[in-house]
Amino acid sequence: FVIPDFQDFIKDIEEMYWAAKCNMDGKLASYIPQLARANQEHWGVSVCTIDGQRFSIGDVTVPFTLQSCSKPLTYAMALETLGPDVVHNYVGTEPSGRNFNELVLDHNMKPHNPMINAGAILVCSLLKTLDKPEMTLAEKFDYVMSFFSRMAGNEVLGFNNAVFLSEREAADRNYALGFYMREHKCYPEKTNLRECMDFYFQCCSMEANCEIMSVMAATLANGGICPITDEKVLRPDSVRNVLSLMHSCGMYDYSGQFAFKVGLPAKSGVSGAMLIVVPNVMGICTWSPPLDPLGNSCRGLQFCDDLIRRFNFHKYDNI
Ligand code: GLU
Repeated sequence: FVIPDFQDFIKDIEEMYWAAKCNMDGKLASYIPQLARANQEHWGVSVCTIDGQRFSIGDVTVPFTLQSCSKPLTYAMALETLGPDVVHNYVGTEPSGRNFNELVLDHNMKPHNPMINAGAILVCSLLKTLDKPEMTLAEKFDYVMSFFSRMAGNEVLGFNNAVFLSEREAADRNYALGFYMREHKCYPEKTNLRECMDFYFQCCSMEANCEIMSVMAATLANGGICPITDEKVLRPDSVRNVLSLMHSCGMYDYSGQFAFKVGLPAKSGVSGAMLIVVPNVMGICTWSPPLDPLGNSCRGLQFCDDLIRRFNFHKYDNI
């Protein structure tokens, strides 16, 4: 086993879980009513090792929307189906140093990276327009959902229609980004912007829970082979690219500090979810809705700090 004394490890996870549960910091996302109504108390942690040992504690079966945690997944799928050269013809690999939804492109007039809104909207246009272009939006939705579900060991993902509808209503900034990129000819030819935006909102509105997301993180930790089904879902080079950008750009405007302190690839979303990858060891998902001012889950961050205090998981711990 990659973690030989799993029972001992679980004790640590439990302690860290209970310590973070007392953390009452943070505010709920409020840009749509569905997120503003979330329960502040919800807190769950799931781990899945690359050899399939699993542990979960707390609210690990309560569904939440993927939100920005869908960004590494759509990016992974685009790398897998279109290859890195095509994808990075359209989107950069540099942290933006700006807010996740800021109206800004890099000096080549491309979105900075696939982990911010502009980049993720663009990746959606690539998936929609270049990969199996004959598919309708409905077919593409099923196709993407089933790809995500293969990463999750064939667990079925959900979809929150109320969140989707309000994302689409409260999306002035995302539309602004969409049009700004069209002005600068960022999209592949034949992109239908309305469909592309809907597709982006749909990806944000897909639902999963901690247990399911920990398996996705474990598939990334395991070089693209799902530890539950042994299916090879992603090529190692796709995983390497996804993890690199999660490492440098995954935690909003805290990404540099997180890379310094925690030293692990991770991605957070406004629903309070966090995907954390310990390469060659395990995937972790934490979920708790209260967010700090930069948009990361307060309990999730505390858990990561604690994890690195107790274990040598920081990328440069073993130097
Ligand atoms: N649906 C949100 C948006 O596009 C996602 C934000 C997030 O999780 O960072 O604004």
